[in-house]
Amino acid sequence: MFRESIRRGTPVGLRAKAIMERGDLVPDDVVVAMVEQRITQPDCARGFILDGFPRTVAQAEALKAILRRIGLAKPLVVCLQLDSALIVRRITGRRVCKVGGEIYNIYDSPPKTPGRCDRDGGELMQRDDDREEVIRERLLAYQEYTQPVLEFYRRGNLVVDVDGSGSPETVAQALVETLEQSEDRGC
Ligand SMILES: [Zn+2]
Repeated sequence: MFRESIRRGTPVGLRAKAIMERGDLVPDDVVVAMVEQRITQPDCARGFILDGFPRTVAQAEALKAILRRIGLAKPLVVCLQLDSALIVRRITGRRVCKVGGEIYNIYDSPPKTPGRCDRDGGELMQRDDDREEVIRERLLAYQEYTQPVLEFYRRGNLVVDVDGSGSPETVAQALVETLEQSEDRGC
């Protein structure tokens, strides 16, 4: 969403660009303006999925106000449950092909030849963000800033917990079932 706003040169995109070029974190009001601009597009009229937003209670409050203003239903919050050891294993195991961008996991879906992409033979690399110390930092930030967001939505009875420990297919199936059930209850 950020990249798209910047590419299109929207006013809020230009503001975000200037802030990011200074190396600063984009403040909540800019993030929220960007989200509002996006979710009021026609393709969002029947619903949309937000990933990575809201990350703070202030953002969650702002989203609540936007949804009310544009007349959309309350959100359904899906919390993927899995323990931190499994999170670390999944992320530290991730390898990305330098040529085609294919994604592997050295533990759960390894390439046939270690370090080489099955499809194009490209070298597999680990992203800087996928190192264990970076993940531990992100988990701490999650506990500090994002856990309160979850509590905010739990108080509103809007959270559904889904077991995220299974295979991608199992988790995807559980997500689809969760969304279908939530449609029934009019979320
Ligand atoms: Zn490849």
